[in-house]
Amino acid sequence: MGFELQSDSSSPLAKLAGLKDVFGGGGGGSKGAGDKIKLAVAVAALLAAGGLFVWQIFGSTIDLEDATNRIVVINAKTGEVDRRFRLPMNEAPPYATSAGERVLYPAELCWYDPEGNVMAEPTAVLLNEYAGKPGETLCPHCNRRVVKRNPGPSFAEIEAARQRGK
Ligand SMILES: [Zn+2]
Repeated sequence: MGFELQSDSSSPLAKLAGLKDVFGGGGGGSKGAGDKIKLAVAVAALLAAGGLFVWQIFGSTIDLEDATNRIVVINAKTGEVDRRFRLPMNEAPPYATSAGERVLYPAELCWYDPEGNVMAEPTAVLLNEYAGKPGETLCPHCNRRVVKRNPGPSFAEIEAARQRGK
């Protein structure tokens, strides 16, 4: 049976037809009942495969969307960082806190420690222009200059820092 299933073409109809041929050839009075059972098993398997397919398509799409809609924001009033802030649709910063206060700005990420090593987790930095302060922004952790769309290290460097556990 296993061989027959695997050697069939991948079409669901061909699978069903193949099963019927295999089990219909045995003869005897119980032939019809056997066919029905085997067909039911085949149909159940197809339904399960279909369900898995649907789950893979829609499940992964939802996960992806959820991840891309989240950004790191920093509260200009309290300095509090939210690394999984859900980006509101069609809204420009400052975004509102859960209390409705518009004080959340996209954080720039600085990946360096004071010694110049790449860190596994970046420092979230509020730009001076968002904080209403003059001059260029310096990272409070390593004192490096931080700009809008702050350039970061390569993925490999970050991965290496994570391996080191720093
Ligand atoms: Zn820094």
